[in-house]
Amino acid sequence: MKTSQEKGRIAKGAAAPDSRGQPDPKQQPIVIGGVEVRAGTRATIDMRITDLSTHTPLTAPVQVIHGRRTGPKLFVCAALHGDEINGVEIIRRLLRLSALTRLRGTLIAVPIVNVPGFLSLSRYLPDRRDLNRSFPGSPKGSLAGRLAHLFLGEIVKNSTHGIDLHTGAIHRDNFPQVRGNLDDPETERLARAFGVPLMVNTGFREGSLREAASRSGVPVIVYEAGEALRFAEPCIRAGVKGIVRVLRSLEMLPTRKARGKAREPLVIRSSNWVRAPQSGLLRAVVGLGSQIRQGELLGVIADPFGENEMAVTSGSDGVVIGRTNLPLVHEGDALFHIAHHEGTQIVARSLEAFEPEAEYEVGLTSELTDDPPIV
Ligand SMILES: [Zn+2]
Repeated sequence: MKTSQEKGRIAKGAAAPDSRGQPDPKQQPIVIGGVEVRAGTRATIDMRITDLSTHTPLTAPVQVIHGRRTGPKLFVCAALHGDEINGVEIIRRLLRLSALTRLRGTLIAVPIVNVPGFLSLSRYLPDRRDLNRSFPGSPKGSLAGRLAHLFLGEIVKNSTHGIDLHTGAIHRDNFPQVRGNLDDPETERLARAFGVPLMVNTGFREGSLREAASRSGVPVIVYEAGEALRFAEPCIRAGVKGIVRVLRSLEMLPTRKARGKAREPLVIRSSNWVRAPQSGLLRAVVGLGSQIRQGELLGVIADPFGENEMAVTSGSDGVVIGRTNLPLVHEGDALFHIAHHEGTQIVARSLEAFEPEAEYEVGLTSELTDDPPIV
């Protein structure tokens, strides 16, 4: 940790790629935001988005680690929804790993994509658009469309693979899960490598980064974990670990002999939201990751006098992969996100073995245990 007097552009532990030996001549420089990054170097780039109304330029921070040897080019981005900040911390920790000095290929880290939303604690851009519905965008479109266009042109076009880090929306919490089009073999491989126990098969949403990147031939997985505007240590740890596993599976970092059998994730192909049957105050009785049965009690909604109590029950068997943390609900509000699956034993095995805090202590991420956990 640095004191305020020692502020530098690159944090302690964030070493430049290995300068020993000559870079592979085939590893051409990469140009992002008008800045050329040579093989075997690491650069922080302020990618210009637009000007603020104050005349000050608005830029997005990007860090590029361009290995000495050729290989895949992975982008990792967060805060596409400006208030989803777990991913910002995931990227901070990722960039401290000393193993990155041995990186093969290129890592492009964009910790805050939606900079205006991040500054105003908002999911959206100042033009009230959702950036993740504004892809591919255009240079002459709305601010959201222009930022989407810039991100595609500067980041996605320079990448072969991508990981997009999200959390639940405001007051909504997600059990750590990886999402993607699992019918695409390369996407499925990345999702499986990420190694969290829930893999959710999701179709492409019109205007999303994931859809636009896949049209450019860049498979992208989305990691969803935690709640907007909050840090959640287990979600952050599982995220850092997941990205390292993907880097290894792409052979961008040295692979390790697998110890024991890889855990089989639970593949989710359908899900539904249980909505509030009436307005009132919700007393939730099931947490994230709970296995539930059809008809099981999820919570109770009552008015402030305790009258008109109404039970909220599940219409199906499943596992709770998302839920609201806000007790104040209106009729029709989405309360519990239930994923459908087959076989309760598989669920138990997958979820019970998931201990992100303990896993973090072995392998490349172990050096990060020097940092006190966020509580
Ligand atoms: Zn999001």
